[in-house]
Amino acid sequence: SAGLAGIVGEERLLLGEEQREKLSKDYYWYSPVLEPLLRGKRADGIVQPEAEREVAEVLAYAYRHDIPVTTRGAGTGNYGQAVPLDGGLVLDLSRLDAVLEATDAFVRVQAGVRLGALEKRLREQGKELRIYPSTFMKATVGGFVCGGSGGIGSITYGNLWDGNVLEAVVWTMEESPRRLVVKGAELQAYIHNYGTNGVLTELTLPIAERTEWSQAVAQFDEFEAACRFCYALSLTDSIRKRLVAPVEWPIPSFFKPLVKKLESGAAACLLEVEEGNEAALAALAEAEGGRIGYAVPADRYRQGIGLSDFTWNHTTLWALNADPTLTYLQAGFDPIRFMEQISELKSRFGDELLLHLEFVRSGGTVMPSALPIVRYTTEERLYEIIAFCESIGVGINDPHTYKLESGGRGRLEAMLAAKRANDPKGLLNPGKLQLPVAGSARGDGR
Ligand code: FAD
Repeated sequence: SAGLAGIVGEERLLLGEEQREKLSKDYYWYSPVLEPLLRGKRADGIVQPEAEREVAEVLAYAYRHDIPVTTRGAGTGNYGQAVPLDGGLVLDLSRLDAVLEATDAFVRVQAGVRLGALEKRLREQGKELRIYPSTFMKATVGGFVCGGSGGIGSITYGNLWDGNVLEAVVWTMEESPRRLVVKGAELQAYIHNYGTNGVLTELTLPIAERTEWSQAVAQFDEFEAACRFCYALSLTDSIRKRLVAPVEWPIPSFFKPLVKKLESGAAACLLEVEEGNEAALAALAEAEGGRIGYAVPADRYRQGIGLSDFTWNHTTLWALNADPTLTYLQAGFDPIRFMEQISELKSRFGDELLLHLEFVRSGGTVMPSALPIVRYTTEERLYEIIAFCESIGVGINDPHTYKLESGGRGRLEAMLAAKRANDPKGLLNPGKLQLPVAGSARGDGR
């Protein structure tokens, strides 16, 4: 440890039990399957570099001594991505938090910058982020790119793979770590990589013009009508949007700080649209038999709790708070047949599967993605539900696994090739990406 302390300084090498415990965890406990598997896992030490050069030196040191390294942003991931399976070091990048460059079109930042702070700063300059997760107040840019997928803004700009990352600086895990500047198609190997094939120290993200966002809840007697409205709104290009999220009753009853403002028994659509579209929104809702209820004008955006705090995986958080026996899935519906799929799921599972959709425009196509809430009984039943979803064409990105090859989000072939090239000893976040060929010291055989 003297070697590491020599690199980052003694106060930034954390060896205490409590700190190691805290900084070895993420939100894996959302999953009743992952919870018992990852509960006891922890790093032998936490290193907190404050400069890019220190990252490179820590990697070289770890390579020399065969020490596994698991990179961490804010630890808000849901699948144990940031949990070290084999001990070793957690490389906490949250102190690498400088904004390096901001132009009209993009921002270049160090990986540990928090998305909330970045969004605030950009909005003060008449710009804003294109997409960000509902955990943006805590989550880091590097953690979002390496562990997330999409979020608020995805209804306009798609997910991380839709051109929402322009460039990354990646460090390899070798005797002399290389500094790669990755752009274009090569980025596919690093987006949602769980830090398994490189450590990202800098990211360049495209940014948008600041929009004044008003928030509104549209309510419907039937969830199907709520979905039809959200689809129509998603296709209405004249209304700028950041959030289009229909949730089935009783999910809104889990939203403690909001429930009193919502109609009891109604499906709720949580919306962020550009101000000035109130009448158009009301007309679209009426066309499907709905009405606009609770609304927050644009001048109160980000003052206190917002509607996005109840969307994406925050929906699951409120559900879990209300009833710890609930869990969730991540699903992708067919862009054409989704209404049919929704009714098939409802007639098969009833209240065992409560629907929560997030409309996204990816590759130009509006797609209902979903984080349905599942009443958990057994792992076997959970996988029966998954199998049925898949049998009717609803794709599942399994959130109950920490393995990249089973979670189904990333571009695996590209990631594996980068893993072979950048991490010959298999020391980066071992156990999360399995190399199919022999020759890696770790990361295979699990
Ligand atoms: P971490 O959890 O620290 O890391 C995530 C993964 O990336 C880990 O595998 C880690 O090893 C790796 N990593 C981190 N930084 C680097 C780096 N610089 N280089 C290489 N590897 C790195 N996700 C979404 O996409 N959209 C959502 O809307 C969303 N909502 C959520 C709501 C809740 C309530 C919760 C608990 C989670 C949600 N998530 C969501 C998941 C997660 O919060 C986000 O993906 C977030 O952006 C992760 O950022 P982080 O800094 O916490 O990353």
